[in-house]
Amino acid sequence: MSARGKLFVISGPSGVGKGTLVGMLKGADDVWVSVSATTRAPREGEVDGREYFFMNREAFLAKADAGGFIEWAEYSGNCYGTPADKVEDELRAGRDVVLEIEVQGALQVKERLPEAVLIFIEPPSLEELESRLRGRGTETEEAIARRLETAQVELNEKMKYDYTLVNDDMDEAFRALRDCMASA
Ligand code: 5GP
Repeated sequence: MSARGKLFVISGPSGVGKGTLVGMLKGADDVWVSVSATTRAPREGEVDGREYFFMNREAFLAKADAGGFIEWAEYSGNCYGTPADKVEDELRAGRDVVLEIEVQGALQVKERLPEAVLIFIEPPSLEELESRLRGRGTETEEAIARRLETAQVELNEKMKYDYTLVNDDMDEAFRALRDCMASA
């Protein structure tokens, strides 16, 4: 029987580039990147079942009540959760699993599964983060302000993580992420 896979949880403020870093992991065949469920509306180009499983709030809360998520949290007015079944199957099959989730969810995972490895991606500065969020052009000013406020709160939690990486240069950050996963 193969050894159980490792569970990696990657967090960081919105706009830090963690989606791109995790996207780079999706090409690797030694890790499986989990697809979360969310009640937020799809952004342009997002496909149901690929970026997220898009659900209405009622269906989401019913699944949460039934214990269908390893963790779930509200973030910027929407619910996000990690479906439990597939993650457990992959770990049992000996594959490493990556969750890209926000801080409250990450801490729930650590509580339930203490062997999980928590990795925090931080921006070089808050100014840089703001300009990246604006440059993305997908959010209203109000949403950007809300995400920046949340970023402050999230940065205060980074010491609860096992590792912290600064995303200044994407390729370097990806190398650091891979090194960190290999040594964990
Ligand atoms: P976005 O709306 O920008 O796609 O995601 C907003 C935040 O929700 C990001 O910080 C992302 O990491 C987080 N997130 C995505 N999926 C999950 C999940 O399953 N659980 C939790 N707790 N957070 C998630």
